[in-house]
Amino acid sequence: MRPEEVRALLWSFAYFFCLLASYYILRPLRDEMGVAGGVRNLQWLFTGTFLAMLAAVPLYGALVARLPRRWFIPFVYHFFVANLAIFWILLALDFERQNVARVFFIWISVFNLFAVSVFWSFMADQFSSEQGKRLYGFIAAGGSAGALAGPAITIGLAKVIGVVHLIVVAAALLELAVVCAARLEPKQQVAQQSTVSLGGGALDGLKMVVRSPYIAGITLWVALLSGVATFLYFKQAAIVAATSDDPAVRTRIFATVDLAVGDQFQKHSYPFAIMVNATGKRFVDEGADFRNYTYAKYGRVILEQPGQFAWQIFDQKVKHLQRDEYRIRQITKVTADTVEELAKKLEGVNAEEFLKTIAEWNKAVRQDVPFNPNVKDGRRTDGLAINKSNWANTIDTPPFEGYAVTCGITFTFGGLRVNTDCEVLNTDYQPIRGLYAAGELVGGIFYFNYPGGSGLISGAVFGKIAGTSAGRALKN
Ligand SMILES: Cc1cc2nc3c(=O)[nH]c(=O)nc-3n(C[C@H](O)[C@H](O)[C@H](O)COP(=O)(O)OP(=O)(O)OC[C@H]3O[C@@H](n4cnc5c(N)ncnc54)[C@H](O)[C@@H]3O)c2cc1C
Repeated sequence: MRPEEVRALLWSFAYFFCLLASYYILRPLRDEMGVAGGVRNLQWLFTGTFLAMLAAVPLYGALVARLPRRWFIPFVYHFFVANLAIFWILLALDFERQNVARVFFIWISVFNLFAVSVFWSFMADQFSSEQGKRLYGFIAAGGSAGALAGPAITIGLAKVIGVVHLIVVAAALLELAVVCAARLEPKQQVAQQSTVSLGGGALDGLKMVVRSPYIAGITLWVALLSGVATFLYFKQAAIVAATSDDPAVRTRIFATVDLAVGDQFQKHSYPFAIMVNATGKRFVDEGADFRNYTYAKYGRVILEQPGQFAWQIFDQKVKHLQRDEYRIRQITKVTADTVEELAKKLEGVNAEEFLKTIAEWNKAVRQDVPFNPNVKDGRRTDGLAINKSNWANTIDTPPFEGYAVTCGITFTFGGLRVNTDCEVLNTDYQPIRGLYAAGELVGGIFYFNYPGGSGLISGAVFGKIAGTSAGRALKN
């Protein structure tokens, strides 16, 4: 970050923070309103959202083409705030609640798309491509902080001020976002650019999708992602609807889901680290392969260690390679400026042996082989009782970090035996008539190891076979 960039960077951070905090306050409200109208009607709300998008996208394109930038950003956000004011009044007065709730649901979905895309288009105008590479990470962190603050505000206030009045808080944050955006526009550019319209036509976006395979690829990816997310959303809505009838409670549940850690409890950057057990020694080839091919079987190896735990050790040379899951709050982590200090902090580990392990390790790394985290680089160790095959680096650049890990349960895959029609076999290996199995409860497939991402495919393949076989059996 350069000194002349600090101001713009901080305003961008604040802008994205306010924007996403506002959206994440409204999102649980939307979800609650979707459930309030009946989970069965959700599909119509999704259809309504789709139609609203179809109408809004060319309208938005036409607006972008005509309005000067100086007017465009405040116009869009003030427009959304005005909408929020109308929703607030109607909901507070309890006027046609069910219909207003439906329109609100659709409105939020459209708002999300435009509010965020306006933000990133604005950022693309603010910063050059080179600056973007350096600065977007920090700006995006503003959005992440907002996405955490929003649900936290909803959880804290839903019961206190009532669900409907959260709309006012969200609108205030949106107005703050406009203030931040206004502080951002550099003076010299105001003169040059902000009084002319942005240009382009209402359907330019569509034309670009057709012309550019790159943009078409991104569009397809987003479409597939949305398809999967829609299935999950329906499931979530059904669960929350079954949990409570109280709108405030349901809103809090939706907000809590937004704050949830998800599957970030895993710690899968160990191929770039070393792992030690309670004896202070390494016990596995951390770099035998990419994590996708080792994480399942290494969970089992950790279970076999004394106390069933291990510590992953990183230094600053490889810290940037850590996956997002290393940055959640719910972790057991220690840091130290020296290896000796680290040894004392690794709970349950023989410190003396650990120091020996590090000393031997640092001597064994083949520094003549270049390190490349993107391929199996063959940068190995030589002469250790358990060597590492790839991605070996000395541990010598403080601060040093240790992460405590144990084995988690992602799946079982150790259950029933089936034949090629997915009929379940009894202990005499004879099919049990009318009983079919698929998915996790089928044993014998991934017992010794599991290539990441194959569980769902296995479920789909065996599910189809089991379903077809069951249908055939019924017919006969
Ligand atoms: C954190 C995590 C990350 C994963 N990541 C991936 C990935 O990236 N890619 C991938 O392919 N796979 C992944 N998997 C594995 C994949 O999700 C599972 O293998 C798959 O979902 C299993 O599907 P299933 O239908 O066989 O079992 P499940 O999804 O477990 O379904 C079993 C259902 O049966 C219900 N049930 C249980 N007992 C009863 C009962 N007595 N009566 C009625 N219902 C009952 C359960 O509530 C559950 O809904 C991951 C798993 C986890 C946990």
